[in-house]
Amino acid sequence: MPREQIRLPPRRIHAPFEDAAVAVLGGAAVRGDDDERLRHAYGRSLRDLIRLRACLFERVPDLILYPSSHDQVATLVELAVEHDVCLIPFGGGTNIAGCVEAKGRDDRVVVTLDLAQMNRLLAVDRESCTARFEAGVFGPDLETALAQHGLTLGHQPDSFQFSTLGGWLATRSAGTLSNAYGKIEDMVLSLRVVTPSGTIETRTVPACASGPDINRLLVGSEGVFGVITEAVVRVHPLPQFEDYRLMLFRSFPDGLAALRACQEAGCLPSLARLSDPRETELVFACRHVTPGWKRWLQAPLKAYLRRRGYAAPCAAVIAFEGPARTAATLHREAMRILRRFGAVDLGTGPGNRWRHSRYDLPYLRDYLLDYNLMCDSMETATVWSNLLPLVECVREATRAAATETTGQAGYIGCHLSHFYPTGACVYFLFGAAARPGSSPESAIEQYAAIKARGTAAILAAGGTLTHHHSVGFEHLPWMTVEHSPAALNALRAVKAELDPTNLMNPGSLLPPAEVPLANGCLAKVPVEVLPTGTL
Ligand SMILES: Cc1cc2nc3c(=O)[nH]c(=O)nc-3n(C[C@H](O)[C@H](O)[C@H](O)COP(=O)(O)OP(=O)(O)OC[C@H]3O[C@@H](n4cnc5c(N)ncnc54)[C@H](O)[C@@H]3O)c2cc1C
Repeated sequence: MPREQIRLPPRRIHAPFEDAAVAVLGGAAVRGDDDERLRHAYGRSLRDLIRLRACLFERVPDLILYPSSHDQVATLVELAVEHDVCLIPFGGGTNIAGCVEAKGRDDRVVVTLDLAQMNRLLAVDRESCTARFEAGVFGPDLETALAQHGLTLGHQPDSFQFSTLGGWLATRSAGTLSNAYGKIEDMVLSLRVVTPSGTIETRTVPACASGPDINRLLVGSEGVFGVITEAVVRVHPLPQFEDYRLMLFRSFPDGLAALRACQEAGCLPSLARLSDPRETELVFACRHVTPGWKRWLQAPLKAYLRRRGYAAPCAAVIAFEGPARTAATLHREAMRILRRFGAVDLGTGPGNRWRHSRYDLPYLRDYLLDYNLMCDSMETATVWSNLLPLVECVREATRAAATETTGQAGYIGCHLSHFYPTGACVYFLFGAAARPGSSPESAIEQYAAIKARGTAAILAAGGTLTHHHSVGFEHLPWMTVEHSPAALNALRAVKAELDPTNLMNPGSLLPPAEVPLANGCLAKVPVEVLPTGTL
């Protein structure tokens, strides 16, 4: 739809707050125009994409502020308390859980605090391998700044280009190389966080025992406790050894057993992404066309592999990065183990092609909407012994839900990534065509019904609600299943202490005490109907 035809709900104006914000930031950093409101209206979930395409807006932020320092954020939060306006911290807006939208149940003015101006590298301690950044720094800028010191953070989520350090911390993000570098919560040494009750600063120390870990309490808080303004993170020398390759296993259980063996032997790849047969088909369907004479080798190679039992193979991207000698040694040892489990090495060519196009593939989801195809992901983590049963159960539940909802079984595939001594993350990709002639609202309902059944199956099968996509608004109804009542009450008590008037990103992360909240779509699958028994 042409921009001039897009209509947003009227803006609520709080003149005294706006005047005060202009006095702090200057007029250029205080924006109430519709272009800015539109840009900050939603994140990037499928529900968001459908609503953006159909111009469905119930409530969008009234004002966007661009602070450029910790002190400015602190003053703005004080002003928000004084004038009773809500604040939504905003990094890149790439969340896929409804984390940044103005939720619409509150009459107060909603102000988005976009941290894009707070993007500086403030200090590097080369000796200790730490770096202090402002929280609004985007992935590529962060890595460019570190590279000048010969360093890397090593955090590369698929949304790397468009997401920020603050967003990663607030959502407990995981990058593709998490086996080597850890999840974002493993990388943080200290934080500076402005809350309505004051600023929390933690100490830059490698470890401590002074009670529960405050960093861990704040990481993953999705902007509901306060605004992360700065973080000190652990960094690493740039890798001297890099090896990305594609391998094929005869079956998913074979691949899983091989990676578990690597884990036990202490040579887990820095990155391992093991696809099931359905996802492998997709990986190959999306591959670059093989150039020149090599194309003619493909058919005989396929026939040979079929004869050797690789009729429905499972692809695995396997990568090693790190210091030259250590990484090379681990790589050699891992290759030996992977081959023992029947892995066929397709070499570094396809591995490097995957590496260089990996940030593009997730955006196919947007393009497929042109063809009425709703594609999205669900992710979880569970222990090694439960990985295969969980995968089976979620596949079944999602297929059944797609058939009931849209009349077709649709697509469901998955991969394992982000490995731990005790288990791994399972990432499901699912897709279905909305019933012909569906309105955007109905398409959202169909999609949400499928995702809700998949989510219910994940929880019933013993997985976590989310390994790295966070809770936001979309996963909120399931928080009462994920956590014990006493644990949720403890989080609510922290919220009440740090943000007594519920200004910070209200409606995200924490379901109210009485009834689990549910947005229009997820309400249709209440928690009581969680699949039990076989699921
Ligand atoms: C194509 C695609 C691929 C993705 N791949 C991955 C992936 O591989 N791994 C992964 O973990 N995630 C992935 N995501 C999800 C998303 O990118 C992450 O959740 C990311 O961490 C969000 O960062 P952001 O800067 O965009 O935050 P935003 O979306 O702007 O905000 C997310 C939440 O964090 C809060 N927040 C943001 N900044 C701050 C701050 N400074 N202080 C306090 N709260 C703050 C917001 O209020 C909101 O609740 C993907 C998303 C897309 C669209």
